[in-house]
Amino acid sequence: MEFNYTENQRMIADMIRDFGAKHIKPKMMEWDESQEFPVEVFKKLGELGLMGVLVPTEYGGSGFGYLEYVTAIAELSKIDGSIGLSIAAHNSLCTGHILQFGNEAQKKQYLPKLATAEWIGAWGLTEPNTGSDAGNMRTVAVQDGDYYVINGAKNFITHGKTGNVAVVIVRTGDVGDSHGMTAFIIEKGTPGFSAGRKEDKLGMRASETTELIFEDCRVHKDQILGKVGEGFIQAMKVLDGGRISIAALSLGIAQGAFEAALAYSQERQQFNKSISSFQGISFKLADMATEIEAASLLTYQAADMKNRGLNVNKESAMAKLYASEVSVRVANEGVQIFGGYGFTKDYPAEKYYRDAKLCTIGEGTSEIQKLVISRAILK
Ligand SMILES: Cc1cc2nc3c(=O)[nH]c(=O)nc-3n(C[C@H](O)[C@H](O)[C@H](O)COP(=O)(O)OP(=O)(O)OC[C@H]3O[C@@H](n4cnc5c(N)ncnc54)[C@H](O)[C@@H]3O)c2cc1C
Repeated sequence: MEFNYTENQRMIADMIRDFGAKHIKPKMMEWDESQEFPVEVFKKLGELGLMGVLVPTEYGGSGFGYLEYVTAIAELSKIDGSIGLSIAAHNSLCTGHILQFGNEAQKKQYLPKLATAEWIGAWGLTEPNTGSDAGNMRTVAVQDGDYYVINGAKNFITHGKTGNVAVVIVRTGDVGDSHGMTAFIIEKGTPGFSAGRKEDKLGMRASETTELIFEDCRVHKDQILGKVGEGFIQAMKVLDGGRISIAALSLGIAQGAFEAALAYSQERQQFNKSISSFQGISFKLADMATEIEAASLLTYQAADMKNRGLNVNKESAMAKLYASEVSVRVANEGVQIFGGYGFTKDYPAEKYYRDAKLCTIGEGTSEIQKLVISRAILK
């Protein structure tokens, strides 16, 4: 086992630190305040190869594996969780679904655009009434000759408005049939396809989250990913990989919150001593550091297994569950260590605290991760 960064991981981490200092840190609180999705940052990240991390070079991507992918997301999320979340959604979900299940023509048509950030991708599974219970979705596609006519709505979709293309999973069979759903690639501008309300969120405010609305939206059958009826099964496989990226997102936020709290605890003086000299604070730091290390090991284990083509259903759920809960705990203790200043926007602790909470919800809540893990161990 090798626990140190490889040369590629080190190169990615250094590159992101430089990029973040120049292009993210100076503006991130402004974006957070105004909920601006900074498209230009993603275009620049595309130039660095971070919008197609896992996409093979023949389709315009970076051709990296999951270790590099985890490092990229964690390093970005250390700076700003919103940017980490959008990178994860673009790479793992929309691009990842086309990469895993697209035919050659679809891969050639869409992957180069997505991998270079010429296009931003969205992925729609969740609906207003079906989140954890996504298999019960009500958005339907009805066949009409060579076309399918889609009606319904998806919500909480990352890049629902700005995205140039979306992979959307809709019902083509009976409710309750896991083979009754199909994945379609739908381009922005397709008549009957539009973005609805943008969510006003607690955290991850620079990552755009909107509804997708389908009103008699006609999509050609060539836009189907794989076969009719495979959409839900494909989505579950996409999420197995996606959860590694949310574990990485959680890890990065936890590391950022920890580093800020560690530095502050050594600067801040009370009772004529730095607060880090009080055991009440130093033990918090010890717990935070230990939990981050454990989250990192679970995340990189899942990444390594994914690279080796192994089934990561249980391991990615474990990594996501543990890392996301650690992220929330560490960010919470971070605010505590900053005291009253942690409650203000003058210091980074409050943003980590707000952003971390998404990690226990997106791509399956902690409770759903426990369902996945318990099913795997009770098999
Ligand atoms: C910022 C953000 C970005 C997102 N991006 C996307 C995206 O790009 N694409 C997309 O498709 N979706 C996206 N989502 C949706 C996200 O995946 C869902 O919010 C999540 O799966 C939970 O679904 P829900 O919100 O409907 O909660 P619900 O399913 O209603 O859950 C409510 C509560 O009930 C619990 N619960 C539900 N079922 C069970 C059960 N069987 N056992 C125990 N507890 C249970 C849940 O754990 C939770 O605590 C995003 C969400 C957010 C907030």
